Amino acid sequence: MTSLLIESPDTICVAVPGPFSTPLTYACSKPVAPGCRVEVPLGKRSVIGVVVEQRPDEQLDMAKLRAVERILDDTPVLPTDILALAEWMSRYYLHEFASPYLLALPGLLRKGEAATLPTETWLNLTVAGEAIDPAQLKRSTQHQAIMTQLQQSGRLPWSHLRAQGFTRPQAQALEKKQLLSLDETCDNDPIPPTGQLAEPSLTLNDEQSAALDQVSEARFAPFLLEGITGSGKTEVYLQAIERCLSRGHRALVLIPEIGLTPQTVARFERRFRDRCVILHSGLTDKQRTLAWLQANHGQAAIVIGTRSAVLTPIPDLGLIVIDEEHDASFKQQDTLRYQARDVALKRAQLADIPIILGTATPSLETLHNALTGRFGHLQLKERAGGARLPTIELIDMRRQQQQHGLSERLLIRIREHLNDGNQVLLFLNRRGFAPSWFCHSCGWIADCVFCDAHLTYHHHGHINICHHCGHREPPPTVCPDCHSRDLSAMGTGTERAEQLLESAFADVPIIRFDRDVASTRLKFEQQLEKTAEDGPAIIVGTQMLAKGHHFHRVTLVGVWDSDGGLFSADLRAKERMGQLLTQVAGRSGRGERTGEVLIQTYYPDNPIFQPLTEHDYRSFAFSLLEERRKTRLPPFGFVAVVRADSAFAERAEELLATMTSYLLEHHAVRVLGPLPALLSRRAGKHRFMLIIQADRRSALHEALVPLHRHYPRQTRQVSWHIDIDPADL
Ligand code: ADP
Ligand code: ZN
Ligand code: ZN
Repeated sequence: MTSLLIESPDTICVAVPGPFSTPLTYACSKPVAPGCRVEVPLGKRSVIGVVVEQRPDEQLDMAKLRAVERILDDTPVLPTDILALAEWMSRYYLHEFASPYLLALPGLLRKGEAATLPTETWLNLTVAGEAIDPAQLKRSTQHQAIMTQLQQSGRLPWSHLRAQGFTRPQAQALEKKQLLSLDETCDNDPIPPTGQLAEPSLTLNDEQSAALDQVSEARFAPFLLEGITGSGKTEVYLQAIERCLSRGHRALVLIPEIGLTPQTVARFERRFRDRCVILHSGLTDKQRTLAWLQANHGQAAIVIGTRSAVLTPIPDLGLIVIDEEHDASFKQQDTLRYQARDVALKRAQLADIPIILGTATPSLETLHNALTGRFGHLQLKERAGGARLPTIELIDMRRQQQQHGLSERLLIRIREHLNDGNQVLLFLNRRGFAPSWFCHSCGWIADCVFCDAHLTYHHHGHINICHHCGHREPPPTVCPDCHSRDLSAMGTGTERAEQLLESAFADVPIIRFDRDVASTRLKFEQQLEKTAEDGPAIIVGTQMLAKGHHFHRVTLVGVWDSDGGLFSADLRAKERMGQLLTQVAGRSGRGERTGEVLIQTYYPDNPIFQPLTEHDYRSFAFSLLEERRKTRLPPFGFVAVVRADSAFAERAEELLATMTSYLLEHHAVRVLGPLPALLSRRAGKHRFMLIIQADRRSALHEALVPLHRHYPRQTRQVSWHIDIDPADL
């Protein structure tokens, strides 16, 4: 154990919550191992931090050091592999130094609660209890039942009996009769994984077995497992996990936020006898802490969770699986802006284990890694069960009668599918894409007069801005091509379309999945249950419906608002759009019936659509990769965004302007800005951004580290942050 101790017993480095870019040093009367929590003074307060594996600066003035107030743990709550991963995140994402360490801990442990598993009460059979015939306990059938069970096993955990409805006084009454004894124990011992199955696994097809054989390597090896919905990816995960567990190792499975439904989890739980724990934001603090402690103590063989579960301590981790690796929810969009997929890759590399990234629509980064041989590339091309792919048709909005953005053709087809007793899924592409200003009559779009780019419409200030050169101009009110006055920003006005639907189809239920529904698991489940009911229905929702859920009764998918992604200045808008359309198409025709997908667009000739209508996501992705190569954007270049907020617009702009001059003078990076951010006013604050690009990752970091170290996060009423590998601009 001595190797865990820091060299110098009188000072320790602590990751302390707050705006610090390094750990802070404290005096401590005895050595404390890295990964233990300590309470330390900070200004006038006391805070809880985590001891990190770093040697304090030798030139410290010991007399000025403040002392640790309390040591919370005898043994580390965070093991060395998680400490190493957290340190990497600190250096990579350039947020507050302590953020990843705190993210790794469940909330209750951050607040200082003891890191011990709750105690269990055991019922132990006494000699008298062994001798008695339970039938003699005439006054209570419950007493008889408890004794019968106890005589079979000799020893039973109370939780087991409580689950059957027995009460504590019943057990206590038997204790009084000295038929059993009640003993409290705290069991921290790990439970070795076995890989034993509770239900038989399926016989894999050739593609699946080839995939399984490759991922069963024991070293660091990332794999893209590419296969459309229903091609059998999950079955490959399950069998790879089975092999991992039977070697005595444990597995971590990451799932998108909304994909973590009971259906998904049940599939893992049904398969294995080993314990599976779930970590997601819907748990209470207590439940989350319990699951985390079980994982940390090696009592769970499989840990399934959303984004932040990537930092769960798991002894003998042998495999990581990321399902729907392209999903946007793996990127955290506030405070510590990390991408869980990239953190998972780092974790697999540090642990020297395989990692599987499964998806029907790989992110451009992952696809690029697979194409260049950095990742193994496994493909499942057949759809298990042989369901047919839906037909995809574009509706040319320039040639359609329309009401509030709903075309006549779409309305007619909706009616026909409903009349056949089927369900219709209407899909709104309402992600906050950087919108363009365009003409509803002819599809004209406002372009920059100085460069080959579309202007981006900013609601605040009602102004068009070029995100390439910064040019600004007011949006025209009359179309320069067809002289129509029907101009607006893309993606606005869908509320009226929804009202129209309600009146046109008043005879069928409309099941909505809006932001309100998505906010709680329970509401979401209730809406899902409604879709399972018999009879025609219209399901309306946004991108949250594109993945994971099986709508067996849907035969028509209508996409009524897809153009937002086509011309956006936003880095990933097109990629997202292609992923969404592909995933959405996967929602229909899963049963015997062939499905139909109708996409409304003003730009049916846009080359982006052709591969998508032919179910050829790969060609679509190739053309986007080509575009990214030309513009030196990820994965061919590296991007970070610096955003600054202030109640005083000029202060935010000024701070970013000083940063820009510094960066351009000292570093090999390209800087665009300060630009007003898309959501340029938020809660009374003005928001500006810089887009920083470099051809090498190291050049980007060398430029950002000095900003991170030397510009205070709060200056003259400006607060600012760095977003490395931003999901959108
Ligand atoms: P994905 O994760 O790619 O959507 P699944 O693993 O969920 O695909 O498989 C889709 C369906 O096909 C499931 O009902 C699954 O039980 C079934 N399935 C998968 N692999 C096989 C197989 N080798 N033999 C028979 N059925 C399979
Ligand atoms: Zn026009
Ligand atoms: Zn321009």
